[in-house]
Amino acid sequence: MRLLVVEDEIHLAEAVAHILKKNNYTVDVAYDGESGLDNALSGIYDVIVLDIMLPKIDGITILKRLRGEGVGVPVILLTAKSDVSDKVLGLDSGADDYLAKPFNTEELLARIRALGRRRGEIKDTNQLSFGDITLNTSSLKLSRGAEEISLTLKEAELLEFLMLRKNMVAPKEQIIEKLWGFESEAEANHVEVYVSFLRKKLNFVHSKTTISTVRGVGYTLTEQE
Ligand code: CA
Repeated sequence: MRLLVVEDEIHLAEAVAHILKKNNYTVDVAYDGESGLDNALSGIYDVIVLDIMLPKIDGITILKRLRGEGVGVPVILLTAKSDVSDKVLGLDSGADDYLAKPFNTEELLARIRALGRRRGEIKDTNQLSFGDITLNTSSLKLSRGAEEISLTLKEAELLEFLMLRKNMVAPKEQIIEKLWGFESEAEANHVEVYVSFLRKKLNFVHSKTTISTVRGVGYTLTEQE
């Protein structure tokens, strides 16, 4: 799971990121509302931990923008105030959960796990379909009819990303962010390598679904007749 922490108190942000990483989450941190919103809009996160009082853009505004743009990622709001009206405003704006500061890290972890599970239920049995193919995101199996092949984790993540975007183009930069993270040195040719692996595997199961290159932009899944 990939998490985004938006928190301007640097010590708190780093402490939270440290604990989450220790619990095997991939974590990105944004220290103000503007970069938090930019990151959150990328749509690459499984859960966002969002402080309300932030410089530049506050957490409630970020949340409203996300929901307005159709980004449905689960959001846990953090606030220094234990004010009930704040809580109501947050939940009304589309937050999934709420945690008052100072909070216990075990409680934060429990809430993230709960939201991750809820998300898993929404996704149903971890099966994604597009055209004639099905991807099982737990077993990492790609299948077409009775034919099946195993994918590596990166191949499965790439295919999932393309499948979730349906017929929209997945820009190369977003693929790099999703697969290797913001601070990664991975380059566009890494993506090309994994795309070529995936194309071979799609051929292997005789799928009519192909990965098309959109020159200078990225990739998109298409169904051949
Ligand atoms: Ca704050």
